[in-house]
Amino acid sequence: MLIVMRTDAAASDIERVLNTIHSMGYTGHELAGSTRVAIAVTGNDGAIDPAHFENLPGVAKTIRVTQPYKLASRNGSNIRPAVKVGTSEIGGGSFAMIAGPCAIEEREQVMAAAEAVSRSGAAFFRGGAFKPRTSPYAFQGLGLDGLKLLAEVRDRYGLNIITEAMDEHGVDAVIKYADCIQIGARNMQNFSLLKYVGASDKPVLLKRGLSATLEEFLLAAEYVMSVGNAKVILCERGIRTFGNHARNTLDLSIVPAVQRVSHLPIIVDPSHGTGHNYMVTPLARAAAAVGADGLIVEVHPHPERALCDGAQALTTDQFLDLARQLTTLLRALGPDAVAASTSSMSEQ
Ligand code: PEP
Ligand code: MN
Repeated sequence: MLIVMRTDAAASDIERVLNTIHSMGYTGHELAGSTRVAIAVTGNDGAIDPAHFENLPGVAKTIRVTQPYKLASRNGSNIRPAVKVGTSEIGGGSFAMIAGPCAIEEREQVMAAAEAVSRSGAAFFRGGAFKPRTSPYAFQGLGLDGLKLLAEVRDRYGLNIITEAMDEHGVDAVIKYADCIQIGARNMQNFSLLKYVGASDKPVLLKRGLSATLEEFLLAAEYVMSVGNAKVILCERGIRTFGNHARNTLDLSIVPAVQRVSHLPIIVDPSHGTGHNYMVTPLARAAAAVGADGLIVEVHPHPERALCDGAQALTTDQFLDLARQLTTLLRALGPDAVAASTSSMSEQ
C-alpha cells in the first residue's frame, strides 16, 4: 500500500502514520516528492485495509498495491493453466464450447439438443435441473430426474456435464451426476455455498453476479479456492446497466481484465448476456475474438416451446452454424488469440 500525505501534512502526521505501520508489524518507507510525502508499506503478506490510515490527520489518500485475492491472482506467473472438467479441459489455450438447453425439460428435448451439441464437436453439455427462477410460479426444473437425464447424455454422447446447484443439497446431487458444478449469478455471493463447493473436488463454473465488480467476482472465486478447490472457471454473463435493448449488458471488457490479473479461465455466456436469439451469434463471435477461453450457449430444439429462456435459445441449426463460424474465426485468429492478453501481460 502507498499512503499519500497531504501537501500541508505536519511532520508529526508523517510520524503518526509511520508508527501505525510499525505497530502493525510492517515497515514504512518515506518517499519525499517535490510537494508532498508518500509512504510505502512493505512486509505485509496480503492486502492492508485502507481504513487503518484513511482517517489519520494529514493523509490525502491510500493506494492499494496488493490485490485482496491471492489464490485467484496470477502471482506474477505467465501461466494460465487449464482446468480439467470430466474428460476434457477448459482454459490453457484451447477454446471450450459448452452448450445445451437452459432447463432440462424432457428426454426428447434433451437428447435432440445433445445430439446437435455432440455433432458440433463441442465437449461440454449444459442444462439446468435446478432452476433459479425470478417467479416462484415459473418452472423450477426437474430436479433429480433432470440430473439422471444429464447422466444419460454423458453415457450416450460422451459429453461432459455442467449443471447448476442452488444449495447444499443440490451440490450433493450434482456431484453424483455431473462433471462440473455451476454456481449461478444470483448465488455468486452466497458465501456458505461457495465454501461448500470449495470443499468438494469437482470443478466449479462460477458465473458473475448481476452487478459484481471484477474484484467481487475474483473474491467469490477466492472463497471456493480458499477451502481447497482450485478448479474454478469464471463466466461473464452480462450485468445490469441502464441499457434496456438487451436482457443484460455483456461486459466483454472483463475478459482481458480478468486475464491480466488472474490465472483462472474465463468463458462468456452470450445467451444470458443478451437475452435475444438474434444477438447470441454476433456476441459469441465477439467473445471468441476478445480472447475468451470458451463459451456457454443455450440451445433448444424448439425454442418456441421452451419452459425457460426460449427467447435467447439458438435452434440446433443456428447452433451448428455458430460452431462452424467459430471454427473459421478461431483458425483465422490463430493459436495466440485465446487469452491473447496473456502474452502482453504486465505484472499487476
Ligand atoms: C443459466 O445458466 O441457466 C442461468 C440461470 O444463468 P445465470 O445464473 O447467469 O442467470
Ligand atoms: Mn437460462
